[in-house]
Amino acid sequence: MLMREPAHYVGRFAPSPTGPLHFGSLVAAVASYLQAKVHEGQWLLRIEDIDPPREQAGATDSILRTLEHYRFEWDGEIIFQSASRHAHDAALQTLLERNLAYRCGCSRRDLKDAPRGPLGIIYPGTCREGCDAVETAIRARTDDTPISFNDVLQGRQTQRLESQSGDFIVRRRDGLIAYQLAVVVDDEIEGITEVVRGIDLMDSTPRQVWLQRLLGYGTPTYTHLPVITHPNGDKLSKLTGAPGVSADNSAPTLVAALIALQQDPPPALWRCEISEIWQWAAENWALDALVGQTAVSTDSTALAAVKIGLW
Ligand code: GLU
Repeated sequence: MLMREPAHYVGRFAPSPTGPLHFGSLVAAVASYLQAKVHEGQWLLRIEDIDPPREQAGATDSILRTLEHYRFEWDGEIIFQSASRHAHDAALQTLLERNLAYRCGCSRRDLKDAPRGPLGIIYPGTCREGCDAVETAIRARTDDTPISFNDVLQGRQTQRLESQSGDFIVRRRDGLIAYQLAVVVDDEIEGITEVVRGIDLMDSTPRQVWLQRLLGYGTPTYTHLPVITHPNGDKLSKLTGAPGVSADNSAPTLVAALIALQQDPPPALWRCEISEIWQWAAENWALDALVGQTAVSTDSTALAAVKIGLW
């Protein structure tokens, strides 16, 4: 009899150490973790530490301690993105050699009159045919073929890169590797098959799919989760003053994360130990509850707890 191998699922959580883990990141970690667990897959932890100017001292340790406190169990060693710089450079080299990328000497000032779209500046292609600046960024060439992917929760997404972002940066003028390239190279190296992350990154995905095609990589399945907002609608982030999640209240905070993920936990779960909460969550995990949802307010999460008299 032919035994069917379980589908090989490799997911990941990839925080940047720009501050402590706030509730929005916790929600993304919980969802990607549970998706991997219910698929009997692997869940890797990658610290995206390639942008030192944006890093906050102590943030990596704080994120790791928080994840341990919430009893996440990742597979293998913690991966530090800075350790794959040689692979990022090799990918850049490939793009340059194949003329799929080029050096660009444009400064911010040079681009101040460039058209802008929802993704930011639409690069007008000034350096496409060459530039003699000494200090240069590297941009990936784009064309206007529609780039589409089917998001598990948000449906089919399409962008035309040349008109919506223009040729985009893969290595910055200061020599740092841009997120778009690093994430694609690392997802490929680590054999990631499923990317579950916040919807704020969905606009970047077509650029990532484009790079995967230029570099001959496969494309993982993408699931973009609703963003968690303050009651006024602003995204929870360091910029909007979202505090780090507390280690003291990890069990109720985990239940709140499940509510934010529309999982409808029974009221008794608020009084359970964290291991029991994880067990309930894995047994009852239903990603479908989030289909088409783009934002969830912390207000509704807190209200759910208040309604049952526990917060
Ligand atoms: N490092 C990114 C962040 O913290 C996430 C990258 C990703 O999941 O693709 O926002």
